[in-house]
Amino acid sequence: MKPRFDNTYAALPERFYSRQKPEPVSSPSTIVVNEPLARRLGFDPQWLKTEEGAEFGVGNRLLEGSDPIAMVYAGHQFGNWVPRLGDGRALLLGEVVDEEGERFDIQLKGSGRTPYSRRGDGRAPLGPVVREYLISEAMAAMGVPTTRALMAATTGESVFRETRLPGGVLVRVASSHIRIGTFEYFASQRDTEALQLLIDYVIDRHYPDLAGATPIDLLRRVAEQQAELVAQWQLLGFIHGVMNTDNMLLSGETIDYGPCAFMNEYDPATVYSSIDRQGRYAFGNQPFITQWNISRLAHAFLALPDGEELLDDAQKVVDDVRDLFRDAYGRGMAKKLGIAEFQESDWPLIEDLLELMYETGSDYTLTFRGLTRLATSDDSDSDGSDPEASDDDLAKLTTLPDEFDPWIERWQARQTEEPANNPLFIPRNHLVEAAIDDAVEREDFSTFFDLLDVVKTPYDERSDWADFARPPKPDERVQATFCGT
Ligand code: AMP
Ligand code: MG
Repeated sequence: MKPRFDNTYAALPERFYSRQKPEPVSSPSTIVVNEPLARRLGFDPQWLKTEEGAEFGVGNRLLEGSDPIAMVYAGHQFGNWVPRLGDGRALLLGEVVDEEGERFDIQLKGSGRTPYSRRGDGRAPLGPVVREYLISEAMAAMGVPTTRALMAATTGESVFRETRLPGGVLVRVASSHIRIGTFEYFASQRDTEALQLLIDYVIDRHYPDLAGATPIDLLRRVAEQQAELVAQWQLLGFIHGVMNTDNMLLSGETIDYGPCAFMNEYDPATVYSSIDRQGRYAFGNQPFITQWNISRLAHAFLALPDGEELLDDAQKVVDDVRDLFRDAYGRGMAKKLGIAEFQESDWPLIEDLLELMYETGSDYTLTFRGLTRLATSDDSDSDGSDPEASDDDLAKLTTLPDEFDPWIERWQARQTEEPANNPLFIPRNHLVEAAIDDAVEREDFSTFFDLLDVVKTPYDERSDWADFARPPKPDERVQATFCGT
């Protein structure tokens, strides 16, 4: 059972992409298949695990209807304009429509060179493939809009970075791969026809209720989606790491899990990415960068015919990003705290909690989980599944220090319902690194599979998993994450 591929993006004019076949590899082998997602898209998960399935997963075998293309785009990388980027290490195999009629891109990441590869080899080492699989599936489990991982495979070939590494390919599923940088590309070329086609395509595919609306309406919708998305990142302590405009999707999904990580102790200045020397994409900067990125999209729209007339309205949308974010973040925080009717006057409660976390060096995730525990504990064993005293470990991990007591009193006076959306298990950096190490050094995927199991059910109180909930010990701390492209 395999889906038939369709290609609406490849039906756009040829200047939107380059037709390109994947470069075959010598001995592909499937590592993991996302079975529910596979079924939803019409794949037999068992087939994806066979030799033929592995051949599909690395690009050696194309399925019926597939017309692979590398998409062209531009972008601002760390604030600097790059006139042409494009899929240099990825290939769009085509689109698949699921049983509900929803259309998804099926893309290979790491399948070889394309006209946009520049000096790169178009390949991916296994490490980043493992990382993206874990973190994107964790994000999905926590309800964050994101691209998904359909499967991952090894290629049987080496890639060379600083050292020799095993190669991998990720099969990525996204609502589409249209980026702010895609608009910037055509705008910079003054290709107004292409810009208009792209707007029509995005409205048709993602926001059909905007049919016939103005470009400003689309801009506003995208701004809302981005604000909503980044608010969710902030609420979970997620640091994307490379919020370049070529990594921001018009669909509002998170994409490109490179040097990303979840924060341990709360500190807005947290940066993990080894390439982010100035902290442009530090945790606390992400909302501001969102606004900046939307300003780049607005700027691209000004290249439309009569674009100058859009200036004031476009500026207004950009200005509003701040409030859109604040609104989404406030609503999300209210949920996390169990406040049914969030009011402006609740902001100090939030700000003071963050301040307390910062001063006490408290773990972000466990602090919120501690609130969940406080609100729900009835002094009886939570699920009875616990064989030993390890439930104590979770209790210990989620006990808030005494300094929190006055704040807790204020909070309890406001809290009306159960705090929600406070995960216990996130893919902490040291766990992800351990999974990568075992996979890369020893071809041992058991650490990866264990962690994948855990992050797929982030809210379940599992005392036998306490070790996955705890922050890193000093010697386990990961200082920097690498793009590892
Ligand atoms: P990223 O940092 O993943 O957003 O990638 C930025 C740009 O570099 C994109 O145009 C990628 O296609 C390109 N790129 C990254 N890694 C490679 C690689 N190994 N080979 C060719 N192009 C690459
Ligand atoms: Mg990218």
